[in-house]
Amino acid sequence: MYLFNCYNIVISFSFLIFMFQWHIANTNGMYALKERDRKSRSAFRPVFCVVFFFISICGLILRLLFLQANRNLTAADVSERFVQVDSSRGYIYDRNLLPLVNDTAENTAVTLLPGADGGTAAARVAIRAFQPYGIKADTLKVKDACVLFETEKEIPQTETAVNIKRVVRYGTDNVCRHLIGYLDADGHGVCGIEKSFDRLLMESKGSVGVRYYADAAGRALIGKALRVDDRNYNDPAGVVLTIDRRLQKIADSAMKSAGIEKGAAVILDVADSAILASVSVPEYRLDDMERALTDPALPYLNRALEAYPVGSVFKPFVAAAAIDRSVSTDGVFRCEGSIGVDGEVFGCFQRNAHGEMDLNKAVCNSCNTYFIDLGSRVGAEALLSTARAFGFGSPIDLTGQIHCASGNLPEKDALSLPAALANFSFGQGDLLAAPLQLAAAYGALARGGAYKPPYLMKAVVNKELHETAYYLPESGQTAAQTSTCRRICESLRENMLSGTGVQGRSPYVTAAGKTATAQTGDFDENGKERLCTWFCGFFPYETPRYVVVVFNEDGSTAAEDCAPVFREISARICRAVPND
Ligand SMILES: [Zn+2]
Repeated sequence: MYLFNCYNIVISFSFLIFMFQWHIANTNGMYALKERDRKSRSAFRPVFCVVFFFISICGLILRLLFLQANRNLTAADVSERFVQVDSSRGYIYDRNLLPLVNDTAENTAVTLLPGADGGTAAARVAIRAFQPYGIKADTLKVKDACVLFETEKEIPQTETAVNIKRVVRYGTDNVCRHLIGYLDADGHGVCGIEKSFDRLLMESKGSVGVRYYADAAGRALIGKALRVDDRNYNDPAGVVLTIDRRLQKIADSAMKSAGIEKGAAVILDVADSAILASVSVPEYRLDDMERALTDPALPYLNRALEAYPVGSVFKPFVAAAAIDRSVSTDGVFRCEGSIGVDGEVFGCFQRNAHGEMDLNKAVCNSCNTYFIDLGSRVGAEALLSTARAFGFGSPIDLTGQIHCASGNLPEKDALSLPAALANFSFGQGDLLAAPLQLAAAYGALARGGAYKPPYLMKAVVNKELHETAYYLPESGQTAAQTSTCRRICESLRENMLSGTGVQGRSPYVTAAGKTATAQTGDFDENGKERLCTWFCGFFPYETPRYVVVVFNEDGSTAAEDCAPVFREISARICRAVPND
């Protein structure tokens, strides 16, 4: 440093002399010097000028070299460091662009560790000053020379401390857990939408952290400001689902308040079969995956997409097959409480003898013998053909990776025995279907016979939330005639006014629907058969907008455990979403 100052003095002094001589050389006229003096000085001055000029130039070069060396010295000793606080990836939105992930934020405070001695003890000292901001317990982390901790309130920014708003991928409400899935330790999707759209969601990945200066030993230089480094963090680009977050929450809470432990609820848009809500219980907690994987209740299973015994909610499709083929549904049929088919006796519920039945009465009483008789007159081939057209037996592809089970629709040969056909006619036997499949089938009834496959993906949006791609739902097929469906919907409406569906009725909206209590052939340790219970319906009755299917894997009676869920969902939707 002393040497450097000497150079400065030499350069300055040389430059001054040079300028002085130059000045004299140019102003000799003003001083009116004698001719002799002028001659001697004119020989002397150029030499001085050149010498001092070179001294000046050399000095400048030396000074530049010194500065260069000095800069290299600084870079070796002091370097800028980056500590990552969080990473992010694309969003998953509901149909109204309400986020289904990243919808909550936490304050992560970052401060520098003073002095040479890092570690937790020093970190605890470093964060004491932030006590008034509500330091959250067990959130302290030390990364290099930075101390990270979470606070209730945002800390003010200083030279040595910053606040980072960190988004939380999955909030505590666990909304759409089964559909969304989750990420592995590297931030890639393990299942659900996170896996299906992993590459797309990673295209808008980002990170946030802090930059600070440290010496060669890694100690933070306190004199230089700590600053936030945002690298495309929390980019809003992402995928849009057909889910309606508000309806999803309504279905979630209705299932919880009914106390259904294993089951599902699905809400579809009658207009186009878009999935508006899909609930599966039990849920699983991401912070306890080990338990989820060993829990006998199989919480990671998405029950909305799994196939189960169907029971009486299948009866309207037997009626559809009959009415479409002009097989009489309103002739005289008398229910005696049971019916014998090919030596096998099939009973009505609790062996009740329902007496004279037409379609309305048979639906309202869920009369098995009526539908056994009707099915035998329609025949296996026609029943299967109608069932197929309503989506039974076909898988539903939702994202290329998320599938709804195809369930089981028996082959024609399997229904060649009259007893098998009888079983099938009231939804029992080998018939299996998923809640989503039943929702799609009831949607077709509600819209007058056009079957539309349910869909979940709506669009892809960029960071300005403009759609860059959108999903075109499949057109579907005609499953039954409009007049047929209208006739069946009338009986489903009657069922909610005076039949087995009354407990699904809400004072806020007109609805049509059907219960089912399906036998599973599976018995518990006390010898009691496990029952699958259902409620399938739609509302408002006059201009159907929503189809709702409620399923309980381990139910008692549909009227008691599924119908109230339908009632609550329909009531809350219609109070929250007035008819427009
Ligand atoms: Zn009966």
